[in-house]
Amino acid sequence: MAILVIGGAGYIGSHAVKALAEAGQDVVVLDNFRTGHKQAVHPDATLIEGDLRDGDLLQQVFVDHSIEAVMHFAAHSLVGESVEKPIDYFANNVGGMISLIQAMKEANVDKLIFSSTAAVYGQADTGLIDEETSKAPTSPYGESKLMMEKMIQWCDQAYGIKYVSLRYFNVAGASSDATIGEDHHPETHLVPIILQVALGERDKLTIFGDDYDTPDGTCIRDYVQVEDLVHAHLLALDYLQQGNDSQAFNLGSAEGYSVKEMLEAARRVTSKEISAEIGPRRAGDPSKLVASSQKAREVLNWQPQYTDIEEIIQTAWKWHSSHPKGYQDEAQD
Ligand code: UDP
Repeated sequence: MAILVIGGAGYIGSHAVKALAEAGQDVVVLDNFRTGHKQAVHPDATLIEGDLRDGDLLQQVFVDHSIEAVMHFAAHSLVGESVEKPIDYFANNVGGMISLIQAMKEANVDKLIFSSTAAVYGQADTGLIDEETSKAPTSPYGESKLMMEKMIQWCDQAYGIKYVSLRYFNVAGASSDATIGEDHHPETHLVPIILQVALGERDKLTIFGDDYDTPDGTCIRDYVQVEDLVHAHLLALDYLQQGNDSQAFNLGSAEGYSVKEMLEAARRVTSKEISAEIGPRRAGDPSKLVASSQKAREVLNWQPQYTDIEEIIQTAWKWHSSHPKGYQDEAQD
């Protein structure tokens, strides 16, 4: 039996494929390569190029391969962009989920591990966000993921499709062997942008607002190392294989770092100056998102290995400094 990884050529998906393949699991990857990279896909995985919303293709994938469970990473995921292009986000993200659930239902596949996000919570006024914290997304991106979560909840009830929704806080870093890492075009995420400045690939970091209600005025986020995050997916797979009920789990570290603190940490890791300026706020950004991941620790027995922000940045730095232009530095297939 194989695991279908949709979006397995993307940043987080490719790390999941690597972990599954290294654990000896058969893996089938479906990716449309809109943002993913062929070079990021583990060589042992079966690679199929195509779009999740192509229902016929998806059904064929289920027919051709003996798929036991699905990990779904394929979604548009930029907060700022989603505010500009909400229809794209609802069409791709919610549309993709409709297509997936229809195909799973047809094929009698009943296990789904879904990449959700901290953005489903929106502006949380409490300290640590747990799974019961109220959901009020501040962006179409967060709203689309919340809609997807609700859809699978109803489809569990109707069709018995069991799911684990993993609500990622801010994922950062690269594989510890520095073979794969984070490479978006255009890059919008904080850690790779800071490291591109350190490498001279970009002039400076623009800090999006320093007038938030936080100690230094910049937004606070909870950063989790990508391999730790991916490990939670393997535990979630076990959890569903054991016949457990559908659940949502936060994945974070319970430690918040401001944009300025991240910049300082990256300066220490890289020993580079890293120029920065203050710019306007970015639309859709809540001031603070920090997770309680107690539930994932207790129920899934998840134990993140990276607890130090500098170590997380160090894994990213190792990949970025060996791939200053990302996957463009490697031969194309
Ligand atoms: N950020 C920033 N400058 C950048 C990119 C990001 O100040 O060039 C901030 C952003 O406003 C947010 C934090 O860094 O507060 C993390 O942003 P990112 O896009 O990495 O992840 P998100 O929180 O949107 O998932």
